[in-house]
Amino acid sequence: MILKTVNVGERVLRQKARPLKQEEIRSTFIGDLVLHMRDTMRDALGVGLAAPQIGEAMQLIVIEFTEEYLKRSSEAQTTETEHTVIPFHAMFNPTIELLGPADVMGIEGCLSLPGFVAAVPRAAAVRVHCLNEYGKSQTIEASGFYARILQHEIDHLNGQLYIDRMQSETFSTVQSVQRHGKK
Ligand code: ZN
Repeated sequence: MILKTVNVGERVLRQKARPLKQEEIRSTFIGDLVLHMRDTMRDALGVGLAAPQIGEAMQLIVIEFTEEYLKRSSEAQTTETEHTVIPFHAMFNPTIELLGPADVMGIEGCLSLPGFVAAVPRAAAVRVHCLNEYGKSQTIEASGFYARILQHEIDHLNGQLYIDRMQSETFSTVQSVQRHGKK
């Protein structure tokens, strides 16, 4: 099922999302929600989606970076060299630790700000503690593009958007970026 997404300006995008209990994570309701979020992300050609973006102030994100996206992003304007396929997964109640300064620039867009992109500085590597879809705790160490996606999506759970961190003079419409070509 494709869910309705909310745009910047909606309060839920600026709230701190609530953590989920283990019983909730294992519930049919959340199991179904994860699948609907997956379908919604794929439909929008996104690589990540956080629950506040579908109007739910819960600490839940889904991420997927397919082979198909990998081909498309080989020309993308990012300084990250590490682009690898990331299988679909959901994570709950994540806490993030940046393993270094947020000084790697890369272009980001967001399904909650359709039609816009900007250059955003992020840490090259992160460590995330979270619960997986079975409610088991896990630690993920990520670098490159995966680390960027994690920082972007976990920001959503804290009521933050990439526009809070972007280099504001790079803020552009997708159209104008395409018109002026890739730098
Ligand atoms: Zn976003």
